Amino acid sequence: MKKIAIIGAGYTGLSCAKHLTDNGMEVDLYEKTNQIGGMVKCIDVFNNRIEKYYRHIFKSDKYVLELIRSLNKESSIKWYTTKMGYYSKEGLYEFGTPISLLKYKPLPFIDKIRFGKAYLKIKLIKDYKKIENVTAEDWIIKNSGKNVYEKIWEPLLISKFGKAKDQISMAWLWGKINLRSSSGKLEGESLGYYEGSFSRLTDTINDYLIEKGCNIFLNSNIQQIYKEDSKWIIETEEGLKKEYDFIVSTIPYNSSIDLFKKYLTEEEKQKMKTLEYTSAKILIIFMKKSFSNFYWMNIGDSSFPFGGIMEHTNMIDKSNYGDNTVLYISNYLYKSDDEYNLSKEELLKLYIPYLKKINSNFDEKDIVRLECFEEEYAQPIIKTNYSKDMLDEKLNEEGLYICTMGQIYPEDRGINYAIREGINVAKLILKK
Ligand SMILES: Cc1cc2nc3c(=O)[nH]c(=O)nc-3n(C[C@H](O)[C@H](O)[C@H](O)COP(=O)(O)OP(=O)(O)OC[C@H]3O[C@@H](n4cnc5c(N)ncnc54)[C@H](O)[C@@H]3O)c2cc1C
Repeated sequence: MKKIAIIGAGYTGLSCAKHLTDNGMEVDLYEKTNQIGGMVKCIDVFNNRIEKYYRHIFKSDKYVLELIRSLNKESSIKWYTTKMGYYSKEGLYEFGTPISLLKYKPLPFIDKIRFGKAYLKIKLIKDYKKIENVTAEDWIIKNSGKNVYEKIWEPLLISKFGKAKDQISMAWLWGKINLRSSSGKLEGESLGYYEGSFSRLTDTINDYLIEKGCNIFLNSNIQQIYKEDSKWIIETEEGLKKEYDFIVSTIPYNSSIDLFKKYLTEEEKQKMKTLEYTSAKILIIFMKKSFSNFYWMNIGDSSFPFGGIMEHTNMIDKSNYGDNTVLYISNYLYKSDDEYNLSKEELLKLYIPYLKKINSNFDEKDIVRLECFEEEYAQPIIKTNYSKDMLDEKLNEEGLYICTMGQIYPEDRGINYAIREGINVAKLILKK
């Protein structure tokens, strides 16, 4: 029987492991932290659990839904109709539905028509390759004018990509719009949440894999990986030494370059080095009073030091968190930015005047708990013609595969696509 080692136990690694074990393969998972789940990890709060990073799935997320179904946990996914808001210099508005667009005052009527026409045009595009060579900025300005770009799209691109906002491919925005519009209803967006937090799903996958005979090595520090004859050998700092036919790496590219230096071609290394990321710094505020009526609030005022607020308790009832409101303040930035290194208290201090601009009743005295988490490789920066720069999952060296967020395109990264790519790599191995 073929033996496979998967490095990294986020949802890409877990999905790959499940597909391989379901097909009778022998799989070992190596995870450097003390938990599996990667970016889906949770913390304990008020006798419950909650995600470090705000989390929901869409109705169109067929790979997540299939995974949940295959574990007989369909009834654990609940759907919620949520409201989206948009805070601009002119104030806070509901957004995301046709009626809210008509009521959106900062945009003159003629621009609403332009926005709507361009939106429909994007929805009618079938082949993203036709638009991957143009930036989202150029495409939007050409198809809906500068005002629509500056009032709606530019702040969103800034909030995800900062200074790289004018380099983002239209193919990325196309993928994002198609995903979000597929979950829309007239009265708001329908989003799914796993009962008791997504860590329950991670636990179920963990139990399933263990039952199938998969070994999961936590706190595992791989010291070296090398090839002897046609076999891959993994040695860990903990003294483990094991032999494999295939290796799948799901960890950030720079770590893969370090581990597999000897086995990568110059072109593969170049592709991995070329991809840049924004990092995420997420502040979670637990507080006594609610903040707004919106689950998801985009910040369209680029003078703000953060890009979005997700009021989790406008989707999941407060009673699950000791009757407290849960606010995620989302900030995509660069590791070199000063804010990346601020403590949670310093970050809150920076954000308070802006939170008060949105809701003048916001009072820090109502805060009962504060948490902050950061993710260095949070969002790949997808520039024009990315299909030419994207790394293949099967590498030149026999038996070596790399599968990460950087290979999700033209869709935006998300657990649905992590699961899809994990399965795709497993299928490539099964064909061997
Ligand atoms: C703020 C934020 C919010 C998000 N919200 C959503 C959402 O609402 N819905 C959604 O679908 N997606 C969301 N995403 C995206 C989603 O979380 C990711 O696309 C997905 O989790 C990526 O999974 P992965 O397995 O590819 O990577 P990761 O989750 O990063 O997993 C990689 C794993 O490898 C481990 N690792 C790293 N280096 C090593 C090493 N050297 N040796 C061994 N192990 C190693 C890591 O510890 C980690 O466990 C969000 C992301 C962020 C940052």
